[in-house]
Amino acid sequence: MPRQARAAAAATDPQLARFIAAMPKTEYHVHLEGTLEADMKFVLAHRNGLKLPFADVAAMKASYKFNDLPSFLAIYYDGMKVLLKEQDFYDLACAYLTKAASQNIVYTEMFFDPQEHLKRGVPMAAVIGGITRARHDAQAALGIRSQLILCFVRDLSAESAMAALDAALPFKEHLVGVGLDSDEKGNPPEKFRAHFAKARANGLHVTAHCDVDQVDTLRNIRTALLDLKVDRIDHGGNIVQSPELVAIARERGIYFTVCPTFSGTLRAAMQQPVDVVRAMLDAGLKLTISSDDPAYMGSEYLNDVLIRAADRSQLTRAEITMIARNGFEAAWLPAADKSAMIARLENYVRPAA
Ligand SMILES: [Zn+2]
Repeated sequence: MPRQARAAAAATDPQLARFIAAMPKTEYHVHLEGTLEADMKFVLAHRNGLKLPFADVAAMKASYKFNDLPSFLAIYYDGMKVLLKEQDFYDLACAYLTKAASQNIVYTEMFFDPQEHLKRGVPMAAVIGGITRARHDAQAALGIRSQLILCFVRDLSAESAMAALDAALPFKEHLVGVGLDSDEKGNPPEKFRAHFAKARANGLHVTAHCDVDQVDTLRNIRTALLDLKVDRIDHGGNIVQSPELVAIARERGIYFTVCPTFSGTLRAAMQQPVDVVRAMLDAGLKLTISSDDPAYMGSEYLNDVLIRAADRSQLTRAEITMIARNGFEAAWLPAADKSAMIARLENYVRPAA
């Protein structure tokens, strides 16, 4: 759908849009490198003495054309080459956290892809150091709390992923978990069995992308649930095709981080529009909603994504509140911290006396 049409659709219920925008929220499926806006790429390229093959921001944004996951990933990985120094990662994370705080996200767990940076000779200390400094500064200045999830880039080698994990473990107090992203085709979850076991042994939580409509998707969801023993699944919408897997996920209390903008964009390109959010809610699954890679999705951050999902999936105020509550319940935080955030949400939705 053209962006103008989407914006018009999102404006159909301004009262609901205001309710969503001011609501305290979480976000768990956001790739920091996917928040790298075109204008920041120019700033970082200039600072690092790199020449970009685009005349200006508009020309760069015009190049963001993709019709499947591989064509998206090619643009995404190319774009992050401007990230070289600790300060670059600081600026990137600060920009996202500032945007998130302005949208009333009170807590976020952010993905990053260190293998791509290590490949370019950037030390792990610069990557995690810059992001961690930004997390602390954003919490002090804006009140937004955040944690960090290291993602394995699944289409690189298993050895590369293990090297990244080993390089990150000295900084593990700055990490809350590990995840699995990039191209799932030919890179099933079991490729990372040893990595996930090692991460868990080091006290980290585990999640994994199970992208929509991937080859062997149900098989991979099953492996992620039963073999990798993930705490969460990122995307995972095809699970609704398997009542058995739905039952397993419900019994284990698995939370899904669903990104309707990203899935919708690819599904529209594939001519298979399906309402993933509605299907998962109807199956009784616990889902949260996130923006995924907003810099490449028309700069639609969480509020835009939620407002459009509410419109597209005909979400009621109660369903939106339940999705927000799922977010706080799913937090990889101590129970007391989660309860305090849930109380804040309940205070927000409680009708005025
Ligand atoms: Zn993702």
